[in-house]
Amino acid sequence: MSLVPGGVTLIVADNPSPMTLEGTNSWVFDDGTVIDPGPADEAHLAAIMAVTRVRRILVTHSHPDHLEGVAPLRAMTNATVGELPPGMRELKTPGHTADSVCFVTASAVFTGDTILGRGSSVVAWPDGDVGDYLASLEKLMTFSGVPALPGHGPTLPDCGAAARWLHRHRLERLEQVRAAMAQGARSPEEVVEIVYADVEPSLRWAAMWTVRAQLDYLR
Ligand SMILES: [Zn+2]
Repeated sequence: MSLVPGGVTLIVADNPSPMTLEGTNSWVFDDGTVIDPGPADEAHLAAIMAVTRVRRILVTHSHPDHLEGVAPLRAMTNATVGELPPGMRELKTPGHTADSVCFVTASAVFTGDTILGRGSSVVAWPDGDVGDYLASLEKLMTFSGVPALPGHGPTLPDCGAAARWLHRHRLERLEQVRAAMAQGARSPEEVVEIVYADVEPSLRWAAMWTVRAQLDYLR
């Protein structure tokens, strides 16, 4: 059984990477709403426009892998930007970035990069904020049993459970950062060496962002 609600089509952009997983998820509604047009990629935008006549464009946050396609898609379709369709509401969920939001319908939560389909989300220092991120996860914990449709990776069956897991994971990481500092680690580099030793080298910079954000939070 698909977890994607009826009337919603997933179009995955061809921008896979360790950070974007399989690529950016663009969620396209039969009513003409698009959540996250993704990168400014001609073939990707054409695939979105093949699903529906695009009327409304929404963005979960202003990172380029979600936002770049907005201007060209708008130019090609005359769609509005930021106007919610009936039956949808916006939930402010800062943390990954200061401007992160989720979109909530009766059958799903579109979580952007606040909850990914796999793994933990980066707190994008200096714009992101660990305290805000924890508070946003607490809001999302209330959506028990509701599918989470993320900005990257597979759909999750239970937004509430995913938020609880990420909240616990973040608190565990904070505990590890505290312990590393107690052992004498001072610079973000030293903390990453200890706490994120298991992270592959290509993702060290993302770990560095998150550690800087965690150090800010702990101070
Ligand atoms: Zn993203």
